[in-house]
Amino acid sequence: MSIRADFPILQRSSRGRPLVYLDNAATSQKPAVVIDAVNNYYQTCNANVHRAAHELAEQATEAMENARIAVRNFVNATREEEIVFTRGTTEAINLLANVLSDRIKSGQDIVITELEHHSNIVPWQMLAQRTGAQIKVIAIDDYGNIDLDDAANKLTPNTAILAFTHVSNGLGSITPAAQLIAQAQAVNALTIVDGAQAALHLPLDVQALGCDFYVFSGHKLYAPTGIGVLYGRYDLLCELPPWQGGGEMIEHVSFEQSTYQLPPYRFEAGTPNIADAIGLGAALSYLQTIPRAQLVSAEDRLVTNALSELRQIPGVRIVGEPEQRSAVISFLLEQGHPNDVGTLLDQQGVAVRAGHHCNMPLMQRLGVPGTVRASFSLYNNDEDVTRLLEAVEKASTFL
Ligand code: PLP
Repeated sequence: MSIRADFPILQRSSRGRPLVYLDNAATSQKPAVVIDAVNNYYQTCNANVHRAAHELAEQATEAMENARIAVRNFVNATREEEIVFTRGTTEAINLLANVLSDRIKSGQDIVITELEHHSNIVPWQMLAQRTGAQIKVIAIDDYGNIDLDDAANKLTPNTAILAFTHVSNGLGSITPAAQLIAQAQAVNALTIVDGAQAALHLPLDVQALGCDFYVFSGHKLYAPTGIGVLYGRYDLLCELPPWQGGGEMIEHVSFEQSTYQLPPYRFEAGTPNIADAIGLGAALSYLQTIPRAQLVSAEDRLVTNALSELRQIPGVRIVGEPEQRSAVISFLLEQGHPNDVGTLLDQQGVAVRAGHHCNMPLMQRLGVPGTVRASFSLYNNDEDVTRLLEAVEKASTFL
């Protein structure tokens, strides 16, 4: 209960009933401490960072750089210079797909998986088109697990990059990240992990994982929208060219040529999203007050209960039965299109997502038009599960 009280929006109703928010994989709600941190920044020390010589600027810079340190600690990076602020996962992947251009030779492979979100597919297709590289896709089985034999076949000395999701936003599958990274390293491929869905739900340690890059969005872990993270190994970041040019990322500029800052500033051209970086720092501090094991086991219990009850409802088909699942349940009602089911749940105050979830190729692979997705977070409770089940039962009688 105390956790729910930390999130003011959970007090509101939706369609005349208490809100049941089960669209956390799309974005999480924000605790008051995060909203207050952003407010406080604007009310007390709004200024541009890193350049002005006055007290406000000093305080704003310190607050933003403290957020970078909070992220470093959260992912267990070796130094804060390994943390680049971006707008989110999508921007972080696009940044990488641009700055890695020079490392990709025509004919080399960029390997992804069938589980990927569009933002971990399209930037690589664009890079492949520019460079003459080709995309290879590691298969999943019908349950939504990565096929490790296929991974072994697809990862060869011709692989330049392996980019894959840590947790599938469509099915909730937890991928065998450490194993995939080890396989990629064995063939000298760069490894990029899309942690958009994992960062909140799984313990995160980039050093233990051994990946080269790890990316995630703040808004899925209680922070504001418009702020995200690219973690990169420092030696690698130092070797990479800038992406966007402008203020902040330079060391010296003349009309003839410019030299660039060291990471992370080399990759942060222009005025950064100061307020929301501070909000991200506040979200990570908030998360630290809740033991990770407690968070994961509370979510797992809800998901396990919801799954077994949903299976009892006539006409419900669970889509994806991965061996390891995190916080997401995708399902269909035999009687109706997922969008109609989504609308019927919404009418009962239950917010879920319906559609392809930016996973069109995955939906195609599974032979479904889309799914209804209920995704859970720390503040969901048994009452939310009961309301979901009631709403699905009622929807099934309407269709
Ligand atoms: N990757 C995964 C697995 C996601 O779930 C999402 C968002 O749903 C993204 C990438 C893109 O994140 P953003 O829209 O915050 O950039």
